[in-house]
Amino acid sequence: MQGRCVPCPQPTSQHHKVQVLSEDEVVVAMMDTARGWIRTCRSLCVLTGAGVSAESGVPTFRGPEGLWKMRDPMSLATPEAFAEDPKEVWEWYQWRRRKIRGCAPNAGHVALAAVEAAKTDFLLVTQNVDGLHRAAGSRRVAEIHGSIWGIRCTGCGAERYEQGDFTDLPPRCGACGGLLRPGVVWFGEMLPREASGAATDMLTRCEVLIVAGTSAVVAPASGYAALAKRHGARVIEVNPDETPVSRICDATFRGKSGEVLPSLLG
Ligand code: NAD
Ligand code: ZN
Repeated sequence: MQGRCVPCPQPTSQHHKVQVLSEDEVVVAMMDTARGWIRTCRSLCVLTGAGVSAESGVPTFRGPEGLWKMRDPMSLATPEAFAEDPKEVWEWYQWRRRKIRGCAPNAGHVALAAVEAAKTDFLLVTQNVDGLHRAAGSRRVAEIHGSIWGIRCTGCGAERYEQGDFTDLPPRCGACGGLLRPGVVWFGEMLPREASGAATDMLTRCEVLIVAGTSAVVAPASGYAALAKRHGARVIEVNPDETPVSRICDATFRGKSGEVLPSLLG
């Protein structure tokens, strides 16, 4: 039996070599595979969260800048907080709007805008309200949590986009005198019907889903990767940390989206 491996009947000279890859080589191989999935798929969906804007300097809810005037920002992003103290909620939004105004899209946003042009069936589903995907050139975007630049009247329902500061807080509607509110989705509120409908449609038909920069804990977006997977999509995650989505992913890249997305999509 010498010269042969058992139970394989081929002489060792003709036998394939079993390669032990280093961790870096595994990542490179996985990157090549994932790039192939993205390049050849007809239908591509991307789900993003606050992490894709981290390298642009957008303050997160939970990071060190999350503390605002010793208030928990999570407790300010609710309809109850607005009903109780609209001025304080507006002061916080005005503070966030000022911060975001000084932020520019990063290489991750730019790579996502570029891949859109190469795909006939594409949707970028974002939980971010900062508008940086559109600023980078993305057009097929479903902003499922609304936009921090959107303003809605709680009286007459009029909506508009407004990038400037308000001098008097809380601002009031010029037409009906009602309180104006930020056009974002607060905890406990329904998602905008059009954006969430477009997102679920795409998640049930996409061949590849990239999930980038989201902790995947805020519903319903936390269930989007599983939905796509159930409908046969390959799921790719880009996040420096493990998330609940990681275990159902076909490929995972542990890095910053501003670095990983340009390699993955370039
Ligand atoms: P999250 O803060 O819960 O999670 C952010 C995720 O990004 C984490 O998993 C983290 O590991 C990852 N991350 C950090 N740096 C990264 C990087 N450079 N590249 C890739 N990933 C990185 O954010 P979420 O999942 O979007 O949910 C929070 C909620 O807060 C959302 O509903 C969102 O609407 C809202 N929010 C939005 C913004 C924004 O518009 N930019 C900012 C703060 C909060
Ligand atoms: Zn009004």
